[in-house]
Amino acid sequence: MTIAIQTDVLIAGGGPCGLMLAIELGRRGVRSLLVDPKPGTAFNPQANATQARTMEHFRRLGFAHEIRAQGLPPDHPTDIAYFTRFAASELARLSLPTAAQAVRQVRALRGSWSAAELPHRISQKFVEATLLRHAQACAGNDIRYGWRLLDFTEHNDFVQASVQPETAGAPVAVRARYLVGTDGARSMVRNRLGIAWSGATGVRRDFMGGQMFAVYLRAPAFYEAVPHPRAWMYVSVNPQRRAFLAAVDGRGEFAFHAALHDQEDGAAWTEQDARRVFAEALGREIALDVLSLGTWTAGHSLVAQSFQRGRVFIAGDAAHLFTPTGGLGYNTAVEDAVNLGWKLASVIHGRAPPALLASYEAERQPLARCNTSYARQFADSVGLFPATALLEEDSERGAAERRRDGDYLNAHVRLEFNIPGVTFGGRYDGSPIIVADGTQPPPDQANVYEPTACPGGRPPHAWVEDGRSLFDTFGRDWTVLVLGSDPPDAAPFRAAADALGVELRIVAVTAEELRSQYGAPLALIRPDQIVAWRGDSADAAAGVLQHALGGTVTRR
Ligand SMILES: Cc1cc2nc3c(=O)[nH]c(=O)nc-3n(C[C@H](O)[C@H](O)[C@H](O)COP(=O)(O)OP(=O)(O)OC[C@H]3O[C@@H](n4cnc5c(N)ncnc54)[C@H](O)[C@@H]3O)c2cc1C
Repeated sequence: MTIAIQTDVLIAGGGPCGLMLAIELGRRGVRSLLVDPKPGTAFNPQANATQARTMEHFRRLGFAHEIRAQGLPPDHPTDIAYFTRFAASELARLSLPTAAQAVRQVRALRGSWSAAELPHRISQKFVEATLLRHAQACAGNDIRYGWRLLDFTEHNDFVQASVQPETAGAPVAVRARYLVGTDGARSMVRNRLGIAWSGATGVRRDFMGGQMFAVYLRAPAFYEAVPHPRAWMYVSVNPQRRAFLAAVDGRGEFAFHAALHDQEDGAAWTEQDARRVFAEALGREIALDVLSLGTWTAGHSLVAQSFQRGRVFIAGDAAHLFTPTGGLGYNTAVEDAVNLGWKLASVIHGRAPPALLASYEAERQPLARCNTSYARQFADSVGLFPATALLEEDSERGAAERRRDGDYLNAHVRLEFNIPGVTFGGRYDGSPIIVADGTQPPPDQANVYEPTACPGGRPPHAWVEDGRSLFDTFGRDWTVLVLGSDPPDAAPFRAAADALGVELRIVAVTAEELRSQYGAPLALIRPDQIVAWRGDSADAAAGVLQHALGGTVTRR
């Protein structure tokens, strides 16, 4: 077959991972072809939570404010609340800021939540549409929905693949320097490479373990039917059936997910079943339109045994599969793309050796194991919790049971939804491209994040003298932070960056407080906003930068 398309990176899959990768590459002048058999971005809501770290990446790329303006209206509460049935007794609640409050409050936050961005409750469908717009704005990106990756073979210097339009037309040959499979849970790329999963699957729980029935619905009457303050996420806890409901637009659209019992076959269920099961969870019937129906399986915590074979990579759900407790699947997928994007661009532009690419698996696979394990703990905490018939009894005993279960769920909701440690604390200790300095990072904890500049993690955030977020001062690619009132000369980093042809910005912040928080006057920040190195002198700048880029480039 004659080669019809030549590109740098072929991306199979236009979910959040593939789209984010196309943006990271496109913004750096790397050409990509993205194919996805769907007619366009997602119709169903899917993920509901964008974590603060993902919002930081959207901010780095300049569109966090566009994301925050979508989803729930600015004044819509983002609480997570538990009920026996949505219109019956409230058991527990975690109150969280609205989108408008988040923007105001974030400036005053310290410690675990010191950041320029807080989490945002928005359905994945809106995020994908925004990512698509920004991916299409990059001149070198060729985004083709309605096209599928059929096949590929890897060669020494390139990957040859065939892609085909879904509706009509013959397969087209593509030659790319790299292929990235962001093609979701059933990844054809992963299967073709013969990469197996490791981890747990098929875990059974009353909730978040087994088949789930998903209904995307419109029911504005819900708000009048529920006699409790508004929330973003509503969870029903009763012995008949466990379920949750996430507000999609704050005006009447919702994503409803109900746990199926062993003998039930959700695939055979109809709109009538959707209405019945929704009425059970609400505790009464209301008018609603069913927009779509589906099933999915909860109970996975799987990580691929390898993320790379030669010139072919897998990322996102193709590389790890979560139970959605904690809301980590899509967020981990986005950060895979962030990690791989700058590395592929550096290698393709000849500024780093191909060895840099091996650090993708070295960094992201342990993180995927860590995050799937957190999601599993959250699923055990809520899904193995037994809902008894007493919960709904109109008696003293029933009230006591509701108080007891409310205490449990109030503790659970803070465990699952207040997770700065998971959000900001992800680390790449042991990575071959991190220059360790012999210090130990704080212990890994889901609910606590201790800012540290120990190389391998997110740089500590601060608001700087001119009122900007420290992260807004960073360059697009590399940054050297020069901290304190009497810092060493950072010029050797400029010389080293110029010699390698990489973009580097030097940022001076005189505040002694930040110098002391960073534990050193100099820190090298990577393009994905990770501390690569910190130290007292820039004398070894050339070696440090080369190490962080995976070694020395051999020019051919
Ligand atoms: C009910 C539910 C709730 C969730 N809630 C959350 C949450 O709150 N927070 C969170 O972080 N995550 C959540 N998730 C998980 C989240 O939806 C996924 O982790 C996320 O979509 C993964 O993104 P991705 O781009 O890796 O894969 P996907 O979004 O699955 O995209 C893969 C794409 O690849 C395409 N494709 C398949 N085969 C081919 C091929 N041969 N060639 C080309 N393209 C192909 C598919 O059409 C698809 O568009 C939830 C999931 C579910 C089911």
